[in-house]
Amino acid sequence: MKRIVSYTFATLFLIVASSAQAQSRFDNVEVTAEQVNGNVHMLTGFGGNIGVSAGDDGILIIDDQFAPLAEKIAAQLDKLGSDAPKYVINTHYHGDHTGSNAFFHSHKGATVFAHSNVRVRLANDEEIEPEALPTVTYEDGIKLYFNDDVLHVIHLPTGHTDGDSVVWFEKADVLHTGDLFFNGMFPYIDLGAGGSVEGYMDSVRILLDKISDETLIIPGHGKVSNKAEYAAFLAMIEETFAFVKAKKAEGMSVEDVVKSGLDEKWGTWNWNFITTERWINTLYTDA
Ligand SMILES: [Zn+2]
Ligand SMILES: [Zn+2]
Repeated sequence: MKRIVSYTFATLFLIVASSAQAQSRFDNVEVTAEQVNGNVHMLTGFGGNIGVSAGDDGILIIDDQFAPLAEKIAAQLDKLGSDAPKYVINTHYHGDHTGSNAFFHSHKGATVFAHSNVRVRLANDEEIEPEALPTVTYEDGIKLYFNDDVLHVIHLPTGHTDGDSVVWFEKADVLHTGDLFFNGMFPYIDLGAGGSVEGYMDSVRILLDKISDETLIIPGHGKVSNKAEYAAFLAMIEETFAFVKAKKAEGMSVEDVVKSGLDEKWGTWNWNFITTERWINTLYTDA
């Protein structure tokens, strides 16, 4: 069960990224930029939100969506100062966050940073070209002194995957969580790649402890957010996990939990990739 759930989701992104149909779908995607705070910006298109530091030192980006969007991302970065980022940081290995690595590394000369498990997972994937692999890896994290700010790149274990990193801009007080936050949506937890529900909640608790009410958050998916919304996201996971765990302990099958559903107050968290059914499956598998 565990395997099927995560495999299905991972392949979904691969299929989306590689089919000809998807190419025309990407053709219609518009990449747009918004200022988050100071010299920190966010780009949205299709896939994980891209964090940007733009200033006198040049451009640094956090995540880079899918390969077919690389030129469009570069065009937006150009407006912020340069289409050639000096550094790319990958928050984890998923294709909607690392798809343009090869483009920015090979064509634009970027150095790509990630947790060591991100490189291992990408290297083990036959579909991934060697140019897409991170060129600098770390275990616990790194600090980058860039554009008059200090970027704390922090690894958190066994949450969304086994190679998760977040980036906190100390001066701008902006946190890019990668996929440790899906704003207002049920999260994807990659149980087949070292993620876990308990670990995911632990990571979110650690991050909530680090930030203040003024901190602005770039989530992996969804709109720019804040601590209160992040806390509400954690509460949703805690409550739905406790609920599904109790049903499983009572001996209820996953099919029956899906059939009876979650409290209707969680209905708005359902979305096309992680439906209520898929979320219950994840919780049940890991309970
Ligand atoms: Zn994602
Ligand atoms: Zn992800």
